[in-house]
Amino acid sequence: MPYIEQGQRKPIDDLVRLIKFKSDCKIGIFNYLITRFMCSWIKSKGESYTTYNELIGVLEAAKLELYRRLVSKYEDTKLASSGECYDIEPSAPKIAFEPSIKPKNTNEIETDKIRCPECNFPVVQSEGCMTCQNCGWSKCS
Ligand SMILES: [Zn+2]
Repeated sequence: MPYIEQGQRKPIDDLVRLIKFKSDCKIGIFNYLITRFMCSWIKSKGESYTTYNELIGVLEAAKLELYRRLVSKYEDTKLASSGECYDIEPSAPKIAFEPSIKPKNTNEIETDKIRCPECNFPVVQSEGCMTCQNCGWSKCS
């Protein structure tokens, strides 16, 4: 998270102000800048998986924060001005929860290990068939 304390920001902001990007600057220049900062970080921390892992975490978190704070709002304005392009709705989950009281049938063996491939509800074995009492999925041997 980039929200370091105000007192820590000034020397960094002073450094950033020294860098002026021209409007026709290629994004590769920016990539190079980030890469050089990462190399400097690795040299100061020492090469290790932890250092690499922390750097990757920072890059990912910075990407997500950029998306959360700026890109998603920009996309919302484009959606409002240009209109919807998704013509599908996400499907609802097939199961919300398992009932706490299950009907018991003496001919049925409830298996704790085998679960329905469709809804993940525990399946019941009866007369050579596995049946899901939640969604109706069935498989016979
Ligand atoms: Zn099922």
